[in-house]
Amino acid sequence: MSGQTPPTLQKLARQTLLRDEALAISSLEELPAVVFPPLFQEAFAGRLNKLIKAMVAAWPFHDLPVGPLINMHNLETLQALLDGVDMRLTRKFHPWCLRTPLQTLSITHCLISQTDLDSFSCCHNLFKLKNLEIRGVTLFALDLMPLRGLLGKLAGTLESLDFQWCSMKDSQLIVLLPALSQCSQLNQINFYSNDFSMAILKDLLQHTANWSKMNVEQYPVPLECYDALGHVSRERFVELCQELMDTLRAKREPKSISFATNVCQNCGKTCVYGQGARLCSCLQ
Ligand SMILES: [Zn+2]
Repeated sequence: MSGQTPPTLQKLARQTLLRDEALAISSLEELPAVVFPPLFQEAFAGRLNKLIKAMVAAWPFHDLPVGPLINMHNLETLQALLDGVDMRLTRKFHPWCLRTPLQTLSITHCLISQTDLDSFSCCHNLFKLKNLEIRGVTLFALDLMPLRGLLGKLAGTLESLDFQWCSMKDSQLIVLLPALSQCSQLNQINFYSNDFSMAILKDLLQHTANWSKMNVEQYPVPLECYDALGHVSRERFVELCQELMDTLRAKREPKSISFATNVCQNCGKTCVYGQGARLCSCLQ
């Protein structure tokens, strides 16, 4: 047998399964774990929503990296995914899987609705997450109370949280703050590219005394750093970021912390305040 035989056979097997969705679903319990990731990708590509749902329910690994697979215009697929997570919860399918609740959930660059968000907070199989990434998902129009509920459940387990490019506003961070401040296991957080004022960023940092394990923390610069046209004021950038840094140091000593502007419309770079100030090309 040549070294190429196993992958070819695997591919043929996958093609057969993908031609008959019902057969694929009924075969999931017998499939080796190694087949799941490629079959899952192909199910996404073919929009086989029933198979996606069943595969999530039967997923044999701790992590379920779905972000890059979700198409912005295919909300049915996202719903299938969430239904699958629900099935893990309700033990309708494949129990051996409930022994391994999800540790990582990554949802990136897609649209989610209020209904989607509501379902996160009541999905028990997410309540042991260590890593939650909701990146490039526009949240500014949504009620984040369900997310606060989820974060409250994760206070003792969550280690990394990524909300980059979510266009959150002050009113939304205020909703999350009580739960966030209780997440004592957090060692990594990213809030870059959200729209927060100086007042709410200060408030956030003043409520992070519990974050004693924090290693890397990334925040957006306050909105007050920009002028009416969205250009960064170098003086305000330095002054306000230093003030935020001092606010935090009054509570705890950060290890690695940075405040970043949005990408500059002229040079495509960002200004970052961390160990000193690094300005975009235009402001140097
Ligand atoms: Zn620039």
